Amino acid sequence: MIDPIHWVRRFAELIDEHTDELTELDAAIGDADHGSNMQRGTAAVVAALAESAPTTPTEQLKQVGMTLIRTIGGASGPLYGTFFLRCAAAAGETDFDAAGFAKAFRAGLDGIVARGKAESGDKTMFDALAPAADALDERLAAGADLAAALEAAVTAAEAGRDATIPMLARKGRASYLGERSVGHQDPGATSAALLVLAARQAIR
Ligand code: ADP
Ligand code: MG
Repeated sequence: MIDPIHWVRRFAELIDEHTDELTELDAAIGDADHGSNMQRGTAAVVAALAESAPTTPTEQLKQVGMTLIRTIGGASGPLYGTFFLRCAAAAGETDFDAAGFAKAFRAGLDGIVARGKAESGDKTMFDALAPAADALDERLAAGADLAAALEAAVTAAEAGRDATIPMLARKGRASYLGERSVGHQDPGATSAALLVLAARQAIR
């Protein structure tokens, strides 16, 4: 099982640990704000949950999504916000079991695509999240438990993140650079891999 609050708190901790790295990556192909954007957003999520945490996963994740949209800004705010709002809509009244988490994660990914229209190879967060969702579904279908499936999802997300290095950016600010975007790891794919790692570390 995964408690959604543990998941987002762990995500916030990982973002804190990687804020400078995310900003440096964004300095190379963007405007050097991805670390501070994510840090501000996830800190606001943790503060809002500490002040008043709703009791159901659906309401908790909805609060997370709304808080991220309100506080991150940039391209990634609405994208991460939509991810959590769609997760919320797919979540139920109890903590995530394996099938419930995979369904919510897939719904969140679909929300990012609906919002940002990214495709595989565009050099975005999609390139880390989509292989993670596929690995999760495949491993669960093969009979793995949630821990093993998320272990595979983390590996897939990190491989997807690393695979953004040679890509030419076709979405977002980095796409303005054209060929000069090649050879740099995408900041959003880097934070997205942390989101998957946070889920694995939040399993009880
Ligand atoms: P901004 O680009 O507005 O400064 P951030 O720096 O916070 O916003 O986020 C940049 C990240 O957003 C990129 O590294 C990329 O992964 C992601 N991104 C940008 N546009 C899209 C899109 N259309 N679909 C998916 N992800 C996107
Ligand atoms: Mg930026």
